[in-house]
Amino acid sequence: MYPHAFRYHRAASLEEAASMIAELGEDAKLLAGGQSLIPLMKLRLSSPSHLVDLNFVPGVSYIHRANGDLRLGAMARHADLAASAAVRAIPLLHDCAAGIADVQVRNRGTIGGSLAEADPSGDWGAALLALPAEVRCVGPAGERSISISDFFLDAYTTALAPGEVVREILVHVPQGAAGGAYVAFKRCAPVYATASVATQLTMNDRATCREAHIVLGCVGLTAIRARTAEDELAGKELNSQTIARAAEAAMAAADPQPDMRGSVGYKRTLVGSLTRRALEAALRRSQGGAVQGGHIYA
Ligand SMILES: Cc1cc2nc3c(=O)[nH]c(=O)nc-3n(C[C@H](O)[C@H](O)[C@H](O)COP(=O)(O)OP(=O)(O)OC[C@H]3O[C@@H](n4cnc5c(N)ncnc54)[C@H](O)[C@@H]3O)c2cc1C
Repeated sequence: MYPHAFRYHRAASLEEAASMIAELGEDAKLLAGGQSLIPLMKLRLSSPSHLVDLNFVPGVSYIHRANGDLRLGAMARHADLAASAAVRAIPLLHDCAAGIADVQVRNRGTIGGSLAEADPSGDWGAALLALPAEVRCVGPAGERSISISDFFLDAYTTALAPGEVVREILVHVPQGAAGGAYVAFKRCAPVYATASVATQLTMNDRATCREAHIVLGCVGLTAIRARTAEDELAGKELNSQTIARAAEAAMAAADPQPDMRGSVGYKRTLVGSLTRRALEAALRRSQGGAVQGGHIYA
């Protein structure tokens, strides 16, 4: 189906995009990779009267390290993130980027658009919630930074105020003996995952965990931080028993809905198995091992 008619505007800067959106009102939408917005428009589930295109704004697709942080411009595409050596240095982010949809979607879709969309099945939200990260945005009231843990309010709802545009995502690079992994289960490449788990471990030594972050994706209205599962690991030796207890707690924390991807019971079982896999991969990575993470296809 063709979308309803709309007026097209090309922004020259994020500040201009923010003021255009503020001026054009509620009927205006930003266009980034178009990989969520355009399908919705074609199905006429979204019919904005104005599109403000971010694709001609210079200097907003960067990916670089600065002062112990990884800075990701909002218009960085999933494929560029997957190919970046700076992103590969945080393996959980590389796992995430490399498995989003298929090559066409990865070549167009952006990290800023993905976070702003706040799809409960989106990969970036779950992955970034396992790390200390901030979303920096620009809007009518100037610039501000939102902690990733405060960014997602509900399904398709973020803490962005009307007219605010995501400028960049800032990730504090894990230091010391740390390892992470993002594992997602998908029926095939061009679809969203059935369930996903992001883990980031900070270790005291090779076996004892100082701090664990475990985040569950696609099994709630937003990604879920599995805090009881994390408590099963903090201060303890990581072995098959402690990992199994964390996986049990993660299953209990999941809040899945039955849908075409599976029943509640199936998704909970999947969360348990993905949590084990993700923790094992994160542990081996924290010990310097090269382990394959990422998406698993049915
Ligand atoms: C077939 C298919 C399969 C997919 N599978 C997956 C998957 O497995 N995992 C996954 O995570 N995603 C998946 N996606 C979605 C994809 O990752 C999108 O790229 C992403 O959700 C939206 O990013 P975008 O850059 O395309 O944003 P757009 O579609 O252009 O915009 C999405 C929304 O965000 C707003 N927006 C965009 N940029 C900004 C900004 N800088 N600041 C504020 N608001 C902004 C827009 O106004 C719009 O409301 C899939 C998409 C398709 C079509």
